[in-house]
Amino acid sequence: MVEIAEKINCPDCGAPLKLEAGEVIITCEYCGSAINMAVGKKFFFKHSIIPNNYTLGEMEGVTKSWMQKGFLKPDDLARKSKIQRMELIFLPFFIVHVHATSKYSGVLTRTGQNIPKDGKIDKEYYWKILGRRASTFPTKEYEIPLKGKVNFNLSKISKGAKFLNSEMDEKEAESLVKQEINTHHRYLLSTEIDTIHDIDTTMDIKNIEFVHAPVWFIKYTYRGKQYEILIDGASGEDIKADIPTSSGIFGKIFGR
Ligand SMILES: [Zn+2]
Repeated sequence: MVEIAEKINCPDCGAPLKLEAGEVIITCEYCGSAINMAVGKKFFFKHSIIPNNYTLGEMEGVTKSWMQKGFLKPDDLARKSKIQRMELIFLPFFIVHVHATSKYSGVLTRTGQNIPKDGKIDKEYYWKILGRRASTFPTKEYEIPLKGKVNFNLSKISKGAKFLNSEMDEKEAESLVKQEINTHHRYLLSTEIDTIHDIDTTMDIKNIEFVHAPVWFIKYTYRGKQYEILIDGASGEDIKADIPTSSGIFGKIFGR
């Protein structure tokens, strides 16, 4: 157990800040200000929240209808499964608007000849970084429903929901974005050429935004096994879902 080193008050309203070890960007639960603990000052970037649009009961309905839809699922999934746990969590994301340019040179060999190639990958991204460590959350698969976002306001946190502070600040998010885009551009390039001689990437960070987004974590059991579904609390769309295959059509075809 790591103890919290000191008691810190919100620089805006003076209320004590409740924080857990490892958290860096803290949202004051009295006034809603975001504070960067690394520098002890107010977080400088724009903070938004995407409201959750579902009550617990409604989300149960969404889950059941998800279970009934789609032919890859067992026919009796909705009937035979039991929802064990439903938790709404507001997750912290950085959205980094970046213009990335990679100049490259290399060789195309897949045609049987060595053809030298050079060129440029020039792209603009709104890259997402989840502000939590040791998370298996599928950030890549999650389209943050940004059209629902509003200025951060404590009243938009649904009652009973869990609210997570960020364990990193914008500087770290920015460096993660750079690493991930570098990897992504190398991947893009690998589809074009076979040997990379040189790649030089420059990144121009245009803007960084901090957004809390609502995700429902739903655990259910079916025929003795546990599964998880993640549902976007703004749209009701599933983000990622475990689907049992034991007796579904998929199972029949592939003999599972
Ligand atoms: Zn405050």
